[in-house]
Amino acid sequence: TDPLFLLAQKVIKKLEAHHYRAYIVGGAVRDALLKRQVDDIDITTSALPEDIQQIFPKVIPTGLQHGTVTVRFQQTSFEVTTFRTEGKYSDFRRPDQVQFVSDLKEDLARRDFTMNAIAMDSSFQLIDPFAGIKDMECKLIRTVGDPNQRFLEDPLRMMRAIRFQSQLGFLIDQAAIQAIMRHRKWLSKIAVERIAVEWGKTITGSHFPQANQSLVDSGLIKYLPVMAGHNGIRQVMKGLDQSFTSIAAFVAYMHLQDQTVSISTWKREWKFSNQIKRDSETLYKSVVSYPANSLSWIVYQLENHLLTDFQFLFQVYHQQQWSVSYLRQQKESLPIVSRSELAVNGKDIIALFPNRQKGAWIQEILSAVEKAVVEQEVHNNKTDIREWLQNNDFQ
Ligand code: ATP
Ligand code: MG
Repeated sequence: TDPLFLLAQKVIKKLEAHHYRAYIVGGAVRDALLKRQVDDIDITTSALPEDIQQIFPKVIPTGLQHGTVTVRFQQTSFEVTTFRTEGKYSDFRRPDQVQFVSDLKEDLARRDFTMNAIAMDSSFQLIDPFAGIKDMECKLIRTVGDPNQRFLEDPLRMMRAIRFQSQLGFLIDQAAIQAIMRHRKWLSKIAVERIAVEWGKTITGSHFPQANQSLVDSGLIKYLPVMAGHNGIRQVMKGLDQSFTSIAAFVAYMHLQDQTVSISTWKREWKFSNQIKRDSETLYKSVVSYPANSLSWIVYQLENHLLTDFQFLFQVYHQQQWSVSYLRQQKESLPIVSRSELAVNGKDIIALFPNRQKGAWIQEILSAVEKAVVEQEVHNNKTDIREWLQNNDFQ
């Protein structure tokens, strides 16, 4: 058994020793049954947050308003949430108040899909009142209860259905698809940041083309930021036949396909982070700069964390395959990793051209030297660089 599950079992047994009930729930149970990797475990319990704080020495109050605390146990974090239902949703945002309940089944009933409403007890027995296991066997994404009601309660669940289709390759139940068609407009009531979390998981899912088809067929796509206002972008979306390596790669790709929508517009409408904006701009520029810029010069300027995105975009844009390991190797074998490693600096350049006034030309020459060193046109030592400058008309 997975060591993470054994640790969770210890946490649960500790709660049981204090006469509370506790179970593993949600994504961890689903992914274990699907033999997918599990990185974090959620626990649901009859204990209240203050009870949990009494039992475990390290408890972080991460979401007290939802009855959630993070228990640190043997260097591992567990999200522990008290059994609850959700109160009335008056404005489609979040339930007005959560209501703690004593029954596991009521807690499972508030969950979105049958496959996410399975509990596992301290002896790894499954509690599956909504037949989630059967649905998983049929590869079916089905809401717990009437999809119309469940999507109206929380329209984000429509995006979650699409997201799970993309990650798992399951079909969305027909009644749920019809409910999405009826209620799709309510997605606009959901905070963009919450939609963006699901979107990141959607575009990186290995079955994104199928999920995208559902997004288009159900018409939900018309209620996504940017897509809503740009028919051209919806056309590009319809033609997609691959997943993406990241949100930044997605934005760069979309900008490559339709330059009428700027990267700033993507960032603003989706409320993406500055980091995503910077990364997508870098990726876009790197890809279009080839072949005018050499591959060496491009990978020199790319941060390591962008190499996977770059290889993906390069392949879709130039139809040329570089493996990520090849790119990494190229980057590692460069003569320098930054300008500070150049054998010459500004002072050396000034000394080489004693008759000139100080000015922007110094930086220009340094940049030219940097590029020549990276592209191995000249060795990185003063003598060779001086000679190279003389031979290349910098006088
Ligand atoms: P992941 O592996 O991507 O984290 P997950 O299923 O754990 O997938 P989370 O968003 O972490 O998804 O949510 C944890 C659990 O909480 C879900 O499995 C589901 O039971 C419940 N849940 C999450 N969001 C909703 C929602 N909007 N409506 C109802 N239940 C939800
Ligand atoms: Mg989760």
